[in-house]
Amino acid sequence: MFRIGCHISAAGGYLAMGKRADALGGNTFAFFTRNPRGGAAKAVDPADVAAFADFCREKDIDRLVAHAPYTLNPCAAKENVREFALMTFRDDLQRMENTPGQYYNFHPGSHVGQGTEVGIEKTAEVLNEVLFPAMTTTVLLETMAGKGSELGGRFEELRAIIDRVELSDKLGVCLDTCHIWDGGYDVVNDLDGVLAEFDRVIGLDRLKAVHLNNSKNTLGAKKDRHAKLLEGVFPLEAIARIVTHPVLETLPFILETPNEEEGYAEEIALCRRLHEGENA
Ligand code: FE
Ligand code: FE
Ligand code: ZN
Repeated sequence: MFRIGCHISAAGGYLAMGKRADALGGNTFAFFTRNPRGGAAKAVDPADVAAFADFCREKDIDRLVAHAPYTLNPCAAKENVREFALMTFRDDLQRMENTPGQYYNFHPGSHVGQGTEVGIEKTAEVLNEVLFPAMTTTVLLETMAGKGSELGGRFEELRAIIDRVELSDKLGVCLDTCHIWDGGYDVVNDLDGVLAEFDRVIGLDRLKAVHLNNSKNTLGAKKDRHAKLLEGVFPLEAIARIVTHPVLETLPFILETPNEEEGYAEEIALCRRLHEGENA
């Protein structure tokens, strides 16, 4: 099954999210577990969760790719910021068990001057504290653009974090096409080469989801500015190659393009046509 969707507002709870995703033509979606800039999460209503599970069964929605708040920095230098990361991560992983067997994606963090090595150690430390044997969620490390002191701009950094985590069977990777392009991986002209490199360094068995975005920047710009599918530097053929690639086409594709709902619905339909091999 081809899975395509976008970021959905979490307002109104689980069933409301499912209905919004479905109305846009999506059969997978991403959502922020709480305000992306931080703050408290709302209490979960068991009746809402049950209605959502029924809705998903009916609509063939079997993949959620939740996103941690941007303010969650597991390798922060400041103790209170790391405390927040720990508390949020723990709480979110508990909440994720309301929807068993899904994905929780997070940014591996910014080391803010402490250096990559220290950042890797600290992020791995947080994972070792929050992962628990009984969890059914897979936690995804997102590939980043390497902007500023951001970790995860190189596949090697993600591998180094994974290698330090005891329950590493709970970990996977989410490939963000804008981020890795901005990080210097040429997904436009050498998608096979990039995936071979991913396999060599991390292993393709870890690859669980794709954030499908075009980019406003040149290759290796380390900037992280997403573009709409038809408006960035990737030509349409490159997007088509991504959504039809045998390694990728079985994974959930999440659009994080700068769109309102209408624009998302158009891009979801576009991706379906591209996946079917039709011209846009
Ligand atoms: Fe992200
Ligand atoms: Fe992303
Ligand atoms: Zn981004």
